[in-house]
Amino acid sequence: MRSSQFFLPTLKETPAEAQIASHRLMLRAGMIRQTSAGIYAWLPLGWKVLRKISQIVREEQDAAGAQELLMPTIQSAELWRQSGRYDDYGKEMLRITDRHDRELLYGPTNEEMITDIFKTFVRSYKDLPKNLYHIQWKFRDEIRPRFGVMRGREFLMKDNYSFDLDAEGAKLSYRKMFLAYLRTFARMGLKAIPMRADTGPIGGDLSHEFIILAETGESGVFCHKDWLNLDVLQNPPEAGSDLKDFFAKYTSIYAATDEKHDPATCEVPEDQLVSARGIEVGHIFYFGTKYSKPMGAVVAGPDGEPVAVEMGSYGIGVSRLMGAIIESSHDENGIIWPDAVAPFHVGLINLKADDAACASLCEDLYAKLNAAGVETLYDDRNERPGAKFADMDLIGLPWQLTVGPRGLKAGVVELKRRATGEKRELPVEAALAELIKA
Ligand code: ATP
Ligand code: MG
Ligand code: MG
Ligand code: MG
Repeated sequence: MRSSQFFLPTLKETPAEAQIASHRLMLRAGMIRQTSAGIYAWLPLGWKVLRKISQIVREEQDAAGAQELLMPTIQSAELWRQSGRYDDYGKEMLRITDRHDRELLYGPTNEEMITDIFKTFVRSYKDLPKNLYHIQWKFRDEIRPRFGVMRGREFLMKDNYSFDLDAEGAKLSYRKMFLAYLRTFARMGLKAIPMRADTGPIGGDLSHEFIILAETGESGVFCHKDWLNLDVLQNPPEAGSDLKDFFAKYTSIYAATDEKHDPATCEVPEDQLVSARGIEVGHIFYFGTKYSKPMGAVVAGPDGEPVAVEMGSYGIGVSRLMGAIIESSHDENGIIWPDAVAPFHVGLINLKADDAACASLCEDLYAKLNAAGVETLYDDRNERPGAKFADMDLIGLPWQLTVGPRGLKAGVVELKRRATGEKRELPVEAALAELIKA
């Protein structure tokens, strides 16, 4: 992509309405545009990152055996009456009436709809287990939408639903998701801590929230200080394992959200207990037959008797993750994208766009990087070098490759790693080789 063509409306000034770094930086980097309170248009740069985050989520769901489908955003109130949640859900639910006076709603989550789909097609225990997910927009009429995409009203969520014959199977499904979530967040450069959590309106008895520690987080959390330096995936469980040991190990180190934390029963000594703020990026639940019973999601068991299926649900805040990643990875100059979610891998900066030799080398580098599949944003604009560097730092691409007339005479270009600020002058071919392998 050439900057001269790219729709990238960066801002120099800090928008007054943004209270936290991620919101400020997303606005300044031209990633989003608020269209109504808590509702955003995703501009090309933001959309590119959102797709990368979604793709990582998707790959880890697929790897854990879940299957993707796509359910609609609009649901019928009738389904929610079957589960008994239509009235309970309250004002967070956006209720809609169509021209025939039928009651609809914009889905805040999909337990009812997936249970209905499941029960229509699955009749026998032989078809279990099943785990189905989608990545779809949700709407919750949050009383206080704020912090940009962190607490939007319309937001992108990955939600999946597991169906098992018995509690034993359902708990295995739960553990698989527990591991898949740790992998998902680690791939995005995030350290997510699984914390014992309240089950809230979804109901049920076993639940973990995945929390990114951050001062700007909206959740109060408590954990053992060992979590701060723990890499849970350093010794990943073997493929095909029942994950019992893994799960037992990482749920035994204390971590709980403030709803679940009880100072009276918490056994962690005070000097080892961390009290902090965090961002909830994912939440998993095992809730048994809470929906399958009232909605009649029943299969014939091995002895022919009907069994209400055991279910769990698992959510990831895909759009919130973008805010969480930026909160965890930025400096005073802008965003520092982890490689895996960066909108482009390399920013190619031509310091003197009207210099024929510089332009020709840049064109050559740009063509070679593209040919090697390295996503490159080529700043070919006729702007001051200072403005170009500032924009590149702001949008936070992992590598900056700078071509200027002085270096060109000596046959070198400058390679900068955004995360460390480290700069090196290298011969052109060496710089290319490094970017292609990195
Ligand atoms: P919160 O406590 O932040 O209100 P929640 O517990 O209501 O979130 P869940 O029902 O657990 O949310 O939904 C699954 C995931 O969806 C959450 O873990 C979070 O990452 C994301 N999410 C929920 N509400 C929002 C929102 N308003 N904006 C962006 N993401 C959200
Ligand atoms: Mg909520
Ligand atoms: Mg919550
Ligand atoms: Mg939650």
